[in-house]
Amino acid sequence: MKLLVTFSKGKGRKPIIAQAVRDTGVLIAVERAVIDSSAGEALIEVPDDQCRLVRDKMSSLGANVRILDHGILFNESECVDCGACISICPRDVFSFDATFRLIVADERCILCGKCVEACPHDALTMPA
Ligand code: SF4
Ligand code: SF4
Repeated sequence: MKLLVTFSKGKGRKPIIAQAVRDTGVLIAVERAVIDSSAGEALIEVPDDQCRLVRDKMSSLGANVRILDHGILFNESECVDCGACISICPRDVFSFDATFRLIVADERCILCGKCVEACPHDALTMPA
């Protein structure tokens, strides 16, 4: 299960991901992270049966945590099978089948948003 974690880095703020690993014993895979001097956002992957434990721990440490049930959203009726998303996705989420229809493996998505900007037909959207 993927969790989107956002946090501010106020003075004295503890390292949230490291502390959550230590306190819960859950191994957390960081799929994407953007952190600067004042704030951060990280997309993490944890085992399904432990995601609420990790969410609650991180929330108690001051982070905002959202459980993501799926990756990028695909509106097949808008897709024109142009392939623009295939070349730009860093995680090989998109491919063509034998008839050149788009296949979307959204479980690989790290929600970077690149494909949304690249799609000429608004067939891709980020989960709300
Ligand atoms: S949001 Fe990023 S990782 Fe997800 S499908 Fe689009 S380009 Fe690929
Ligand atoms: S960029 Fe958009 S229209 Fe083109 S193949 Fe991907 S989802 Fe379909």
